[in-house]
Amino acid sequence: MSTLILGGGVTGLAAAWHLQQRGETVEVWEAGASVGGWMKTLPWEGGHFETGPQGVLWQKGTAVDRLFSAIDLPFRAPGTGARWVGKGGRLIPVPASPPALLLSPLLSLGAKLRMMGEPFIPVRGAEPEEGLSAFIARRLGKGVATELLPAMVAGVLAAPADILSVDAIPKLRHWEASGSLVNGIRKGGVSHMVVPTGGMGQLPIRLAARLATVRPGLRAEGLEPLPGSRWRVRGGGEVREADRVVLALPAYEAAALLGTVAPQSAGALGAIPYTSVDLWHSRHTPLPALKDSFGFLIHPPEGRGYLGSLVPSWMDPQSAPEGLMQLRSFIGGAFGKPADLEAWEGIFARLRSWIPTLGEAVAFRHERAERAIPRPELGHRARVKAALEGLPPGLDWLSNARFGPGVRDILEGLEGWR
Ligand SMILES: Cc1cc2nc3c(=O)[nH]c(=O)nc-3n(C[C@H](O)[C@H](O)[C@H](O)COP(=O)(O)OP(=O)(O)OC[C@H]3O[C@@H](n4cnc5c(N)ncnc54)[C@H](O)[C@@H]3O)c2cc1C
Repeated sequence: MSTLILGGGVTGLAAAWHLQQRGETVEVWEAGASVGGWMKTLPWEGGHFETGPQGVLWQKGTAVDRLFSAIDLPFRAPGTGARWVGKGGRLIPVPASPPALLLSPLLSLGAKLRMMGEPFIPVRGAEPEEGLSAFIARRLGKGVATELLPAMVAGVLAAPADILSVDAIPKLRHWEASGSLVNGIRKGGVSHMVVPTGGMGQLPIRLAARLATVRPGLRAEGLEPLPGSRWRVRGGGEVREADRVVLALPAYEAAALLGTVAPQSAGALGAIPYTSVDLWHSRHTPLPALKDSFGFLIHPPEGRGYLGSLVPSWMDPQSAPEGLMQLRSFIGGAFGKPADLEAWEGIFARLRSWIPTLGEAVAFRHERAERAIPRPELGHRARVKAALEGLPPGLDWLSNARFGPGVRDILEGLEGWR
């Protein structure tokens, strides 16, 4: 069986790795000059910065652990750094344990009491598809859905929780299916954020090094069916025939290729919206309270387009030169970007409004992540179903829009994929 995988992001490379492990012949085409898609670590004077994921959720005995071990990927587990939610004009610590949450000012008393009843809420069937906020309100109460969820979701998907499907975070339904979220989380165990040594970009680089044929700089431009469910792919002046073609691509890229050969799939994939986000990386004199922390998220209505900031130099000390603290601030997303957040002065003013003692940046840089994050709005389940059902034999589509937003979701999804 020969498979041509289109897309050399982490999804395409990990899929190729699984197929190669099963003895299949695999080739990967990647449109960009190098592999990794959003998962790239780029040099920045005396350190580096991430274009996409800052870390990956790891746990012993899980898909992430199995892949990291199989490809001998060394990584660093920084532990549980302090984190905050910005609300009511100040940063409120996120409690490290559920009992501590009961004492925290993050939630109102009514919200806390209602939340404690979660284990006794009956499990609901998967259909019809529920909204994300509605799901959280049903299980944990309206207080959690309105007071805590929006910041958490903005931090992962850069979008308002109330327009999203519960399928935006597939783990939620998975946990509920085991009786309750509390039970599901307890059974699943706690994952830790880890970063490969040298940055996230080391994961695709190392995966690609283990694969027989990876072709960076080759963009697929056309798909053509052949007899016997085989496929011909054209791009960059090359032509390849394969028993199977896997589109490991963002939904809109897959839709463009599937246009004439699978119109139903193309229509459904083309209807999946994506969110763009602005990332500002900055270096400062370390602040004791912040330098050993994960970072903070802002309750979206208060953030007015400023979603929060992480501290990459805590997760990955190699990212910043000795003696400096590196921040990464998230701007805009589906919340829109006000004019004052177009330039560094505005970003810094917002940072200072939450951390008044933060000193001027000694260096900063801006990256725009265009159509970077899928936005699984209500109706996402039907769109993914229609897309997969509309694919002719010999074609498949893999993506975080199918498996879930994080690298962990993708790697878990791929273990169950055939
Ligand atoms: C800013 C940001 C922060 C994130 N933070 C985290 C985090 O901290 N933790 C976490 O777990 N996840 C995080 N994520 C999510 C995670 O990065 C993604 O889920 C994951 O990288 C998606 O990988 P992918 O391979 O599916 O897609 P992509 O990375 O988009 O890869 C698709 C690849 O296909 C290529 N391509 C496109 N068209 C063609 C074509 N016609 N022919 C050939 N190749 C083509 C593209 O060049 C690209 O390399 C973050 C994402 C972003 C954007």
